[in-house]
Amino acid sequence: MNLLSRLFLVSVIAFSAGCATQPTPPATPAQAAGAAQPAPLLLVSIDAFRADYIDRGLTPTLAALAQSGVHADAMQPSFPSLTFPNHYTLVTGLYPDHHGIVNNTMVDPVLGKFTLSNRKAVSDGHWWDGGAPIWEDADAHGLRTATMFWPGAEADIHGRHPDYWMPYNGDVTPDQRVDQVLAWLDLPAGQRPTFLTLYFDAVDHAGHNHGPDSPEVNQALRDTDAALARLVAGLQQRGLFDRMNIIVLADHGMASNPLPNSVLIDKLIPLDEVNTVSLDIVAGFNPKPGYDFAAIEHTLEQPQQHMQCWDKTRIPARLHYGSNPRVPQLVCLADVGWRITTTERLAKHKGHISIGEHGYDNADPRMRALFIAHGPAFQAGLRYPEFPNVDVYPLMTHLLGIPADRNDGDYDQVKGMLKPAVQ
Ligand code: AMP
Ligand code: ZN
Ligand code: ZN
Repeated sequence: MNLLSRLFLVSVIAFSAGCATQPTPPATPAQAAGAAQPAPLLLVSIDAFRADYIDRGLTPTLAALAQSGVHADAMQPSFPSLTFPNHYTLVTGLYPDHHGIVNNTMVDPVLGKFTLSNRKAVSDGHWWDGGAPIWEDADAHGLRTATMFWPGAEADIHGRHPDYWMPYNGDVTPDQRVDQVLAWLDLPAGQRPTFLTLYFDAVDHAGHNHGPDSPEVNQALRDTDAALARLVAGLQQRGLFDRMNIIVLADHGMASNPLPNSVLIDKLIPLDEVNTVSLDIVAGFNPKPGYDFAAIEHTLEQPQQHMQCWDKTRIPARLHYGSNPRVPQLVCLADVGWRITTTERLAKHKGHISIGEHGYDNADPRMRALFIAHGPAFQAGLRYPEFPNVDVYPLMTHLLGIPADRNDGDYDQVKGMLKPAVQ
């Protein structure tokens, strides 16, 4: 490690301790009583790692984990197949409609507007309190938790943060993220986290900017795998690699989205007569006082080219979407490979338009996500059938030995991944 990275790491640790709700947590009653702790569980997300990317032969560390652990054919994201909704589903077991992070961009009647770049909204627990993330459950049961980025981890949800966490900063390199996780695992027993997260975003960025079949995505796959190799080596050095359970997954996949594939919504409805909540893959519109929203709905609910629109009460049941007050009254979903935008926006963002996208129908194969699990609780060399991502939460609460909150997952669907003795 060079001096710069060393300095960074020291400051990261100092910074994260400063961000924790309590400075240095005292030993939990269970720890003080010397009670056995569950094996540490590390949840790694590689944003937009499509299930089939692993077949490109560019990720030897992932291939080795898959070969000696459990490798699912795919994991199905929840709808919409976007980053924030799915990351929060993974740690709550709730569909986005049920936990309330229904899109990356949304409007709440009381809280106002939520976007990923709005730091105030992202760190406001009121947006997130429709679900209880696993770090909250773990904390309540005396386990320490640490998040090296995870949507929701910056917010005080029901009065709780992870014990150690960092404000999201895309400039923190993959190696620095790995080193921070290793540093947390080096803490003394009473302070060491049992549940940890680690998040990588380079594959998502490359997918948006260059498309899923680009050399840039391939390079991001190699780079992320190299960071995972550093993680595995660090865990081996500490004698932890075979003693902890590691889940490596993605929030969704990625589809090619060529530039000409734009549905221009302003050509279909008068946009000044509605409140536009979101555009792109999942567009949302709310009524504007004084205008005939029923007429707008009537127009857009007719069969459309390259998109489909529903009043929120008529969204197909399989998408599990529409009951939450944050879901706009009218939802339009682009066909895979298409985007919903406006003539003005297209001109304004010329040259900066994503040619890879996700957010589409979660049943589409291009939205399928990676899932690999490795560790003492998991079977070795097991290929597992596709399953929905709501099942990850009950799997993780089982691994941590804590009760699961009400959720949409089904532990029975995933317990076959575990060795029979720990099912
Ligand atoms: P999207 O592709 O629009 O679903 O958004 C994914 C992007 O969100 C990632 O590539 C990151 O740049 C960004 N991101 C990830 N985690 C966070 C976070 N905790 N806070 C803000 N932005 C984030
Ligand atoms: Zn994502
Ligand atoms: Zn993305």
